[in-house]
Amino acid sequence: MAIDLRSDTVTQPTKEMLEAMFAARVGDDVYEEDETVNALEEKLAHMFGKQAALFCPSGTMTNQIAIKIQTNPLDEVICDKSSHVYLYEGGGMAFNSGVSIRTIQGDRGRLTAEQIELNINPHNIHHAISRLIVLENTANRGGGSYYTLNEIEPIYHLAKLKKLSLHLDGARIFNALVETGEHAKDYGHLFDTISVCLSKGLGAPVGSVLLGDIDLIRRARRIRKVLGGGMRQAGYLAAAGIYALEHHINRLKEDHLHAKVIGKELASLSVVRRVLPVDTNIIIAELDSHLTADSFVHHLEKHGIRTSSFGAQHVRLVTHLGVKASDVDMVISSLKKEFH
Ligand SMILES: *Cc1c(COP(=O)(O)O)cnc(C)c1O
Repeated sequence: MAIDLRSDTVTQPTKEMLEAMFAARVGDDVYEEDETVNALEEKLAHMFGKQAALFCPSGTMTNQIAIKIQTNPLDEVICDKSSHVYLYEGGGMAFNSGVSIRTIQGDRGRLTAEQIELNINPHNIHHAISRLIVLENTANRGGGSYYTLNEIEPIYHLAKLKKLSLHLDGARIFNALVETGEHAKDYGHLFDTISVCLSKGLGAPVGSVLLGDIDLIRRARRIRKVLGGGMRQAGYLAAAGIYALEHHINRLKEDHLHAKVIGKELASLSVVRRVLPVDTNIIIAELDSHLTADSFVHHLEKHGIRTSSFGAQHVRLVTHLGVKASDVDMVISSLKKEFH
């Protein structure tokens, strides 16, 4: 079997997760009668100290719904230049919400309150109305970099002061939390809405959850239906999410250790110009000009190791629960063989 480091979305459900899915009690979730979906939503809302939650098919949908319910057409959304909502959601902000977008060059995907403040438009009919800030934690294109609560607090205060809403794209929020040792409970009050992916490192096959207060989630439920995201006996999927929250959070540390080992080996190769600091489970390496990303990917594929090209000279490798310690050894020896 290939060692697949292209993304942490490639995980296969474990045997125990599949058993939990088969055993789920389900109902029609569009009627709000699926008790397993309801249990997942309550569980995550409770974990983050939010009032309510909504289970959706993808993190793109939870992000897009969060933007839709917190903006009007002609408003402006402020986010990092490399953020998922801007780069990887097909331009959906403009299509779904009719908003304009103010991008900021952050530090590996992370913004500061000072930077954001400089990008809030004055009240003047020439400008779009600054309405919503989106933060990403961990930051994918930042190489899995993360914010601490101390770094988010000034942004929360700025948003309050300027009456802007604050959304967290927390696709990999648990990767950040296991590194900082901070608690999900302390996150809820800082953000109006939070999106959490179950199908990244947590290892569920499908699904993301949007968290917010009761009123926002009621509106989110309507938008989910409009987008075609109302699912019926979705409890089979929600059961995988509940299983993941109960069994796959602490083990993320293992993925981070594996990523550090691979990152260190990559940094030692002459064909690698630099490796972004490996803070969580994502490794981004910039290659020497003699080796293209496509060629790097091709070389490793011969060893049954799959990686992603991330622009002409950059590659991305992501660790997850499908990557065992023996796989990491295999990756290290293949890197040595191909590139030393
Ligand atoms: C994966 C991801 C999402 C959601 O992606 P889907 O594939 O739509 O579930 C959102 N934000 C970030 C940062 C991601 O990495």
